[in-house]
Order: sequence, then C-alpha cells, then structure tokens
Amino acid sequence: MTDTPHPCRVLIHGASGRMGQALLRLAGERDDLTVVAAIDRSTPSQRVVDGIPHFSADELGGVPAFDVAIDFSLPAGFDRILALCVSRGRPLVSGTTGIDEGQREALARAAATIPLAWATNFSLGVAILNELVERAAQALPGWDCDIVESHHVHKLDAPSGTALTLGECAGQGGATPRYASLRAGDIVGEHTVQFTGLGERVELVHRATNRDIFARGALHVASRLVARPPGQYRVRDLLD
Ligand code: NAD
Repeated sequence: MTDTPHPCRVLIHGASGRMGQALLRLAGERDDLTVVAAIDRSTPSQRVVDGIPHFSADELGGVPAFDVAIDFSLPAGFDRILALCVSRGRPLVSGTTGIDEGQREALARAAATIPLAWATNFSLGVAILNELVERAAQALPGWDCDIVESHHVHKLDAPSGTALTLGECAGQGGATPRYASLRAGDIVGEHTVQFTGLGERVELVHRATNRDIFARGALHVASRLVARPPGQYRVRDLLD
C-alpha cells in the first residue's frame, strides 16, 4: 500500500444514496482524494456525472484502478464490494449496517489480506460515546441499561447498528442492554444510553443533526487506511 499516488483514488459504493451523495460532495472539497468511480444499483449503466464516472452494480468487475473503496449501501451489496476489494488487494471502509453474522465473519477473513474499517458510526462523538458507555457500565454494576435510538422513517434496520455497537460496549462493561427504536420524520440519528439505579439515572446522549459528520469521518478514515497493513481497524484507531 506504500505506492499510493496523490491524490488517493477513491471508489464510492452506494453513491446514489443519502450517504453516497454526501460522500461525493465532501470528497470534492478535498484535494488529497479524488473519486474515480461512483457505483450504485440504481445507476442504469456507465456514464459521467460532474466529471465522475458512474457505474451500475453489475459493472463492478470493470471499474478502474482505485486505492480505497468506501461503501455505504445495503447488506445485499456488501458481499460484492468486499469481494472486489479482496480481489484487487485494496482497503475497504464500510458504514453499511444490518450485515449478518456470516458477513461479519467474511470481514474478519478479509482482514487477513486487506486493511478494513467497518463501523456502525463514523462520527467522532460516537467513537467517544462508545468508550464512555463501557466505563459507565463498569462503574454502575447491577444498574439497568437501556439504549433508545431514533432515526428517519427510511431507515431499514432496527435496532440501529450504532445502538448494537453501544450495546456491545455496555456488555464489555458488564451490563445487559435492552433496546428501543423509534422511526419518525427526518431524524438523522439520536442515541441515548440510560443507566437506571434505585432513585437515580445516568443518561449518555448523542444527537446527529447532519449526516455530513459520518461522511467526513469515513473520508478521513479512508485517507488513513491506505497506508495501513491488513487488519481490522476501529474509527478511534484512525483518528489524528
Ligand atoms: P440509502 O438507502 O439512502 O442509500 C443506499 C444506497 O445503496 C442506495 O442508493 C441503493 O440504491 C444502494 N444500493 C443498495 N443495494 C446495492 C447494491 N447491491 N449494489 C450497489 N448499490 C446498492 O441509505 P443511506 O441513508 O445512504 O445509508 C446507507 C447505509 O449506511 C445504511 O446501511 C445505513 O444504515 C448506513 N449508515 C451508516 C452510517 C455510519 O456512520 N456507519 C451513517 C449513516 C448511515
């Protein structure tokens, strides 16, 4: 991975979606990254939009050379972008949530040959919240732990991937979390981790008001991942 040219060539998978559009816009503001391929199942066939080559999901095998792929699609598209990155020996940043146990195992296998950063949330605030939740769970043994998440009505998976990761952190601290999900309007993403004892309650809250935070985080992680050896990385491993 040491032969990465400047700017770094990025492939975006799920490019027509809410996150894909944010990634395309924000990548265009950086001079260290250039998008060489935008892929989506909704793209009819190869065409160039604003100077960026767009491809349909069926054309995945024929996309040009790239240095790192960023995937924010849906679980059905995840296997193919992972396979492409493994076959080309290129790093993958993926924020796709709702992937199943078999797909998590495929990620772990792929990490033997390529650098990977799969995360349910690419915001700095949630990277820190994960740590706070684990510490709170350790410090409050025996307290009830409830994770309440709210998202826009188009979100398909519930509980959210972020809620499940927060639950894993709470579990590492010794708590047994329960989950509640709300789907309403255009909420970008809100997570409350509530620890309840007798006569008192601690709440740790993260509110995302703009999905650019996830796109900026994923672009930052992509720019760092190209120089790393194969393995699985967390967002906090790649923060400056
Ligand atoms: P979206 O529905 O707006 O976009 C998904 C895009 O993926 C669509 O354009 C769709 O056509 C495309 N797609 C679906 N299947 C495909 C396939 N097989 N091949 C190629 N393209 C395919 O969703 P979104 O809000 O942009 O979110 C995308 C994913 O990212 C979801 O899983 C969501 O939960 C997740 N997400 C993660 C984070 C994070 O920080 N990790 C933040 C926001 C959203």
